[in-house]
Amino acid sequence: MASSLSKRGILLLTISVYIELLLYVVPLIMLLLTAKALAPTEDYWETQWGRVMDAFGREPHILYGLMPSIISFVTYWVVALVYLACDLSGCLHRYKVQPGKNEPPPTQRLWHSLGMVLFNQLLVGAPYGVLAYDVFEFIWTKERIGLDKCGQLPSIVSVFFQLGVYTAIREITFYYSHRMMHHRWIYKHIHKQHHEWTAPIAMITLSCHPLEHLFGNIVPLSLGPVVLGSHPLVHWMWFVLVTAFPVSKHSGYHLPLLPSPEFHDYHHMTNSECFGNLGIMDALHGTDQKWRRTESFQRHFVMTGWKPIREMVKSATQ
Ligand SMILES: [Zn+2]
Ligand SMILES: [Zn+2]
Repeated sequence: MASSLSKRGILLLTISVYIELLLYVVPLIMLLLTAKALAPTEDYWETQWGRVMDAFGREPHILYGLMPSIISFVTYWVVALVYLACDLSGCLHRYKVQPGKNEPPPTQRLWHSLGMVLFNQLLVGAPYGVLAYDVFEFIWTKERIGLDKCGQLPSIVSVFFQLGVYTAIREITFYYSHRMMHHRWIYKHIHKQHHEWTAPIAMITLSCHPLEHLFGNIVPLSLGPVVLGSHPLVHWMWFVLVTAFPVSKHSGYHLPLLPSPEFHDYHHMTNSECFGNLGIMDALHGTDQKWRRTESFQRHFVMTGWKPIREMVKSATQ
């Protein structure tokens, strides 16, 4: 591990926590508190949740296995199609991280990537979800999962505790699996497909080799819910977050009040360093040293105004 761990670690940890607080924890708390305040009766949301469970026949393979895949699929296409409209129209050009690159995206390469995305979602992600439920049930047993107990909604504190644990597990497992993908042999045969886009766009977030999608994307995301034996609703919330945020981080646009894409964009641009998600593991292992000397690092923060980041950083250094 790097010797100057503490300074780098604290700095990146602060940035990461700031992003999480501003963009994920705070809006989610507000949403949950508003839902609670608007409920006409004490058990209103539990009754609604019961209806949702009944609609799926209380079938655990659907609630735990298939629904996260469906939710992830819908979230992906809604967010990515909005970004694609911006890619094709050029309306967000001012906010482009790598101006002039893939503006507009090359049609043939885009169609190829869309095919990969659909293959991964429909033929890798969805079957995995259903099979993963069996592992989940094997670990926790049907009685302990207790679908009857799932009729009760988890408390807000419990939701955030679980999401926090998922985030930590994902941060560690994603980092090591991604670093492994950069091993010469694995990179050549598997990970290279994802890196064909040196200036990424949102729509290609899941464009990768099926084995990478399985071991690099889905397993790190699903370990948390399996380890904690969580409520299905927490699963669902998690899959909305971990689909929307990576799509946004691949978008190639640094937009106000959205997560900074600079870290992962730099990884695509240079094919080195910045292997993790939040940057905490890279700080621990020193795999962010070159990046920290770049303009990309200076621009790596959540914008709170409309002025494009490239103008902000330029004016700050002049
Ligand atoms: Zn990579
Ligand atoms: Zn990527």
